[in-house]
Amino acid sequence: MATTITTDCINCGACEPECPNEAISEGDSIYVIDPELCTECVGFYDHEACQAVCPVECCVPDPSNPEAEADLLERALRLHPDDGELKKRAEANTIASRFRK
Ligand code: SF4
Ligand code: SF4
Repeated sequence: MATTITTDCINCGACEPECPNEAISEGDSIYVIDPELCTECVGFYDHEACQAVCPVECCVPDPSNPEAEADLLERALRLHPDDGELKKRAEANTIASRFRK
């Protein structure tokens, strides 16, 4: 379930540098998340990093785009082919994930 940004966004920009996948960018009217790049932070954090810094808590799960942890991890591995640490954590099944909190 990729994270999405609601129209409550106040364009503060705090979320953009927090994303491990560079999935967030400034859109026409509010900041937007590319669902092809968002892993719900699976592989990196046990929470959504964007939501953690958002002052109006408008980075929320997109109910129209549900995804399993395994698919999100696969995306993370694909987006970071040179990240040996991520690969090691995936192989050892010790990744950070919001699904494991
Ligand atoms: S949930 Fe994580 S991966 Fe997805 S946009 Fe937010 S910071 Fe990026
Ligand atoms: S942190 Fe929240 S309010 Fe600020 S740009 Fe990101 S989504 Fe919008």
